[in-house]
Amino acid sequence: MKLVTVEKLEALQREDIKFIDIEDLSYVKSIKSFSAKMAEFLVKNNGVGLSACQVDKFEKFFIIKLDNGSCVIIINPVYYATGTRYKVVEACLSYPDKGFMVKRYRRIQADYWSIDEKNDFLFQRKNYMGDFAEVFQHETDHCYGKTIATIGKEV
Ligand SMILES: [Zn+2]
Repeated sequence: MKLVTVEKLEALQREDIKFIDIEDLSYVKSIKSFSAKMAEFLVKNNGVGLSACQVDKFEKFFIIKLDNGSCVIIINPVYYATGTRYKVVEACLSYPDKGFMVKRYRRIQADYWSIDEKNDFLFQRKNYMGDFAEVFQHETDHCYGKTIATIGKEV
């Protein structure tokens, strides 16, 4: 598994990254196995989140590493602001050793699909704040072709 180039990542348009067809359960297996490889990559590189499009899979899903070390899979994500914005310097595995100032919402409503224990897609609507909300916004942006370099300013 390797990162796509920054040039390729930044050239992605939102329509280049496909929604997962949640009616098609054959995606469950492929997303789970690909996410397991993404998780290995993420842990090895000390990251907190990774979107499939960063590693050459142009579908709308990502993983976030939790405090306990396990990773959650987030599919077809969207978020809505439910709080004010703040400025923060973020890093990204696609931009090693760089920091970019971006604006994030303090609180969001996140809508997405997860994979349940019966290997079916399960719709989720959650309210998040804090670090998880920040990573969720960062990774969802990737799913729409946006990166901290294209929406922020290098510091
Ligand atoms: Zn990133």
